[in-house]
Amino acid sequence: MRIGAIEAGGTKFVCGIGNEEGVIEDRVSFPTENPESTMANVIAYFEGKGVEAIGIGTFGPIDIDKASPTYGHVTTTPKPGWSGFDFLGTMKRNFDVPFGWDTDVNAAAFGEATWGAAKGLDSCVYYTVGTGIGVGVYSEGKLVHGLVHPEGGHVLTRRHADDDYEGFCPYHGDCLEGMAAGPALEKRWKVKGSELAVDHPAWALEAYYLGQAVSNVILMLSPKKVILGGGVMHQLQLFPMIREEVRKQLNGYVSAKEIVSGLDSFIVPPGLGDNAGLSGSLALGLDALKGK
Ligand code: ADP
Ligand code: ZN
Repeated sequence: MRIGAIEAGGTKFVCGIGNEEGVIEDRVSFPTENPESTMANVIAYFEGKGVEAIGIGTFGPIDIDKASPTYGHVTTTPKPGWSGFDFLGTMKRNFDVPFGWDTDVNAAAFGEATWGAAKGLDSCVYYTVGTGIGVGVYSEGKLVHGLVHPEGGHVLTRRHADDDYEGFCPYHGDCLEGMAAGPALEKRWKVKGSELAVDHPAWALEAYYLGQAVSNVILMLSPKKVILGGGVMHQLQLFPMIREEVRKQLNGYVSAKEIVSGLDSFIVPPGLGDNAGLSGSLALGLDALKGK
């Protein structure tokens, strides 16, 4: 079986082909430019490859309401040319196969639930902490969409007493993304996150904010696993610090053994590593084929 997968990011697109076991057999990557040239690359890649379905996990916000006239469109992104672009329709006009279509983070959550860190569980939450912060939610065996789709990167945070950084979110200033995504690290400390020493005070602050987000998501959605991915989470020293924050912030209120004594295996990096996004799109494609 050959399934196509597209991980559409704001910086780069990754396209690949994989099988029903989640094995990715081929992949290419190119920078995200305007929709016309980017889609020309996508279409050229899949042409003649004989894929039976294609899964798309994309940056957004996007319209995933099947009853909406703009289903399959990118909606309000500031990315030049992409706002209102009919992404799914463009693909459908070129390939007569079933399509899976969801946010990049919902795709990653689905991939992790299918083959990764949440395999065998009927719920998980996937965070990406990168250029922005996004949250994918898989609950009771289904991806959560609701009114639009979860936008948990923009939840409000309680500011740390010693932090006077104003936050960079153009909508909210000091929301979670504004305080803790990669650009916040860079703007606050005047150096890229990847260049900060592992014992730099930046990481305690980062863990404080991410710990709040994870504590809140545990309280709100009661997921069976919380997976933290994205560029910033390459700083693996954050994991024990975030677990400690969650322990402190929940303060014994949630009595499940996973929280009381199992946080090491409850708050984890993606089981699929940096393949979480592409594998997730593959899982969406496979699911579309099954539901055909
Ligand atoms: P994107 O969010 O654009 O898809 P990434 O998940 O790679 O891509 O996130 C990029 C952001 O993560 C940038 O702000 C970058 O500075 C930051 N970043 C990437 N690698 C690291 C690292 N090893 N440590 C800290 N920050 C990092
Ligand atoms: Zn925001």
